[in-house]
Amino acid sequence: MNEDIHVVAMPPILPGSADAAGQPATLGVLGGGQLGRMFVHAAQRLGYCTAVLDPDAHSPAGRVSHYHIQTAYDDPAGLAQLAQLCQAISTEFENVPAQALQTLALTRPVAPGAAVVGIAQNRIEEKAHFTACADVSGVSCAPYAVIETRAQLQAVQVGRADLLPGILKTARMGYDGKGQVRVRTAGELAAAWAELGGAACVLEKMLPLTAECSVLVARGWDGQVVSFAPQRNVHVEGILAVTHAYEGNMPPALAIRARDAAVAIAQHLGYVGVLCVEFFVVDDGSGHGALVVNEMAPRPHNSGHYTLDACDVSQFDLQVHALAGLPLPQPRQHSPAIMLNLLGEVWLDGNGQRQEPDWPAVLRLPGTHMHLYGKLQARAGRKMGHLTITGPDVASVKTVAQRAAFLLDLPGLNNI
Ligand code: ATP
Ligand code: MG
Repeated sequence: MNEDIHVVAMPPILPGSADAAGQPATLGVLGGGQLGRMFVHAAQRLGYCTAVLDPDAHSPAGRVSHYHIQTAYDDPAGLAQLAQLCQAISTEFENVPAQALQTLALTRPVAPGAAVVGIAQNRIEEKAHFTACADVSGVSCAPYAVIETRAQLQAVQVGRADLLPGILKTARMGYDGKGQVRVRTAGELAAAWAELGGAACVLEKMLPLTAECSVLVARGWDGQVVSFAPQRNVHVEGILAVTHAYEGNMPPALAIRARDAAVAIAQHLGYVGVLCVEFFVVDDGSGHGALVVNEMAPRPHNSGHYTLDACDVSQFDLQVHALAGLPLPQPRQHSPAIMLNLLGEVWLDGNGQRQEPDWPAVLRLPGTHMHLYGKLQARAGRKMGHLTITGPDVASVKTVAQRAAFLLDLPGLNNI
């Protein structure tokens, strides 16, 4: 593969600089969730002004940004205002209309670009991409079949018994396990497809997972690539609960392969910005497990939040650097870390009434870094914040993480 094909000449947007009219260098982000908020924090720390486009007046990123444009993502006037304010624009949300990124890219550098975000938005295209670069990445995705029509459904029912039991997943708009139905028989498959409204789907074979991990890669306009070591992730009810980020979190040979695969996938896409690639570790009878690529997120990722407190450069710093055309420093992790997600349940008692968690007890624990996203309403399953626990060694980080999880009654306690 020629790695130079996707290199773009982009003069850096220097932090603290101003244009001829005195307007300070400004970076924009489409989407105002917690990922946008942490991007805004990182950009502001470097001296950039920031602009967020999100329709919600109370969006976590909008509330901390210099500018908050409150329109729909596809509103032409909102997009024009964002382009007018910003020297370059990113996204924090892969379900933003790819057309909006295309419109912005007519006048401004946009990273990641509409084409790659479009691929990550659609499991059918995403799997086709993973398959197309399997030779260079060295990993394949789970066996699967595309189901977009009744004829395809019937063909799978008759000819792909190897995919059952499996998981039927909508091609678009799935996250946190939403838009997925587990099926055991051809009859259940038909019922599940009807339940999902006959939408374009993939049926994936259910694999015997022994672990899940993800890798964060950042690639610049000039093709420079840096990456973090893989983090091991534990999901509870389809939502990330715990991330283990330390040496020895997974077999070293698998960690090297996952990292190399993620870099190859980013390069093959000509990706610019931070990309997160999720993998399964599957029991293949070999004793050390085989790696299977699951999906990718064209943005910083929940599993990379530990980089804020445990590394000298965070995933959000790298997103800012990549977007602005600044050099990408190779990150170094200085402390072992465990990240615990804080979902709305932490604020709800057994009757669904709001309660204030015992933060003083949690914050008394050594090495505890608390991040709340400024969301006003706690709802079950809603990502409200996270805790990262760092420490001098893995054993003490685990002890503190278990204590914090116990105090907050977090799921996944048995997996720390
Ligand atoms: P995300 O929040 O990461 O975007 P998602 O809704 O897009 O999640 P997936 O990552 O595809 O969905 O699946 C959610 C979880 O379901 C996985 O993390 C894994 O635990 C389980 N899972 C998904 N596909 C398979 C499979 N083929 N075999 C076994 N388990 C699977
Ligand atoms: Mg996933």
